[in-house]
Amino acid sequence: MGIMFWNEEIETLDRKSLEKLQLEKLQASLTAASQTPFYRKVFEDTGVDIDSIRSIEHLQDLPLTTKNDLRLSYPDGMVAVDRKEIVRMHASSGTTGKSTVIFYSRRDIEDWADLVARCMVATGTTPDDVFQNMMGYGLFTGGLGLHYGAERLGCLVIPSSTGNTMKQIQLMQDFGTTVVHITPSYSLHLVEVIRENDIDPHDLSLKKAYIGAEPHSEATRKKIEDQYGIDAYNSYGLSEMNGPGVSFECTEKQGMHIWEDFYIVEVIDPHTGEVLPDGDEGELVLTHINREAMPIIRYRTRDLTRIIPDSCPCGRTHRRIERIKGRTDDMFIISGVNVFPSQIESVLMNVPEVGNNYQIVLDREENLDRLHIKVELYSKMFHGDLKELNRLKETIAEKIRSTVIVNPRVELLEPGSLPPSTGKAVRVIDNREL
Ligand code: ADP
Ligand code: ZN
Repeated sequence: MGIMFWNEEIETLDRKSLEKLQLEKLQASLTAASQTPFYRKVFEDTGVDIDSIRSIEHLQDLPLTTKNDLRLSYPDGMVAVDRKEIVRMHASSGTTGKSTVIFYSRRDIEDWADLVARCMVATGTTPDDVFQNMMGYGLFTGGLGLHYGAERLGCLVIPSSTGNTMKQIQLMQDFGTTVVHITPSYSLHLVEVIRENDIDPHDLSLKKAYIGAEPHSEATRKKIEDQYGIDAYNSYGLSEMNGPGVSFECTEKQGMHIWEDFYIVEVIDPHTGEVLPDGDEGELVLTHINREAMPIIRYRTRDLTRIIPDSCPCGRTHRRIERIKGRTDDMFIISGVNVFPSQIESVLMNVPEVGNNYQIVLDREENLDRLHIKVELYSKMFHGDLKELNRLKETIAEKIRSTVIVNPRVELLEPGSLPPSTGKAVRVIDNREL
């Protein structure tokens, strides 16, 4: 039996004490935030006296902070400390436009490493593990974030970063990698290359994968687990809130614990901004209550999820959020119907003949929207007879139609036909420019 907790006292703190701690830290964070040009103005404009915030609910008196606010205060309008206190910066991956920068003090980096160590321990990882980090090192937080946490825990860390698939496989074999950190899309590509090299993925020493940085369905998790014969754990984070380590699954794999001594969690109706009760689905709003260099209050993540209200059998008292359904801005509208790529992904990954890569292409033909789905099949399927392939195409189309109520055109492809993803996958290609 390994270690159960990284910081047992905090991770299992009773709710009442946890909420008291949150309020104390919130007040300190608001004071720190009021030192920044951005929040000084926000607090003045809204006329909120931060000293009057005497409960977590009072937080709702403050406006939400958006990604655009970060862009507008680029580069340092949200910095709360002296320049000499800052030891690092990162930038978001810029999935949806100009990226934003985040600064960290020395203590912020230490705290972040601790949070990541907590997450890793919650999945049963120990200092005996060999951790290969296949996320991008550099401005993106995925690489260095997990790196520092895994070192803090005491794992042997292999900073292999993204891409260079043959080298990744060699490192896995030579050093007996037991845990990887990887995007779900890259893990599906990697396993194909492993098999192409006549290696049985089940023969590797791999036990676990931390999959994150992009939305994925339960069906994809299962697929990854089956293909490698491992446990895959969902890892959620965003650079505005440090990076990875915000929320992570424990060994129960029923939602991701969110570290409430560092983050205040709210879920809002994305249209009205109204705070929703626990259990209702909406947009996740996070307040970082433990950051020196860049305290961010009520940040709109644009990620859709819900709070799971029940307690977790693992003993951690910090609440869980459900797997992210998608981002409010990756939803697309086709023929008037709102569709999340994750709905299509879920259908595809549940069809056993479907391989590991797919693409959603949106076109406009004669003023009508067209949903075009390109899917790679497993090679043995691809060489099946034509009648069988046509039947499969019809089955996939029918399943998608009944899920998203739009009639798709399905194209079946040989494995390897679509561009492989090494980082965050681009799943949707919208050719409908007006
Ligand atoms: P960008 O907004 O430029 O992509 P980040 O690199 O900070 O910036 O990425 C954070 C975003 O990545 C999150 O807000 C979320 O949309 C997505 N993400 C991260 N982890 C997960 C996960 N486990 N499941 C779904 N989406 C995730
Ligand atoms: Zn748990």
